[in-house]
Amino acid sequence: MGYDNDNIFAKILRGDIPNKTVYEDDFVLAFHDVSPQAPVHVLVIPKGAYVDIADFSARASHTEKAGFFSAVNTIVSELGLNEQGFRTIFNTGDHGGQEVPHMHMHILGGEKLGAMLGHK
Ligand code: 5GP
Repeated sequence: MGYDNDNIFAKILRGDIPNKTVYEDDFVLAFHDVSPQAPVHVLVIPKGAYVDIADFSARASHTEKAGFFSAVNTIVSELGLNEQGFRTIFNTGDHGGQEVPHMHMHILGGEKLGAMLGHK
């Protein structure tokens, strides 16, 4: 499946839809999830057009990969999550429950989170 240029995060990257930005650099945009599942719920997306983490792993350059994961450290530090911890999730595809087909990492924290999987 190819990349859909009209997915909602592509529109956010183009500035067509507003977002509450937490952090931005040449490689990533991080913003608050519109429907937070924890006191802190931030999404980190690469600026390149990648459908999911598998696509990013396969096609992104080393520079893009380094850029993405370097930004994560800055973001969790700025969010004040390092001391008490947090959870990261990359939902992928149908079984993974991915709704938006642009790779994104959820960062969840701000309270003790429950079981890793809520239900089967
Ligand atoms: P997924 O289920 O694909 O892993 O997660 C998509 C996430 O994007 C959901 O947590 C959903 O609340 C969030 N989301 C969907 N549309 C928007 C939007 O327009 N703005 C923001 N900030 N988040 C969105």
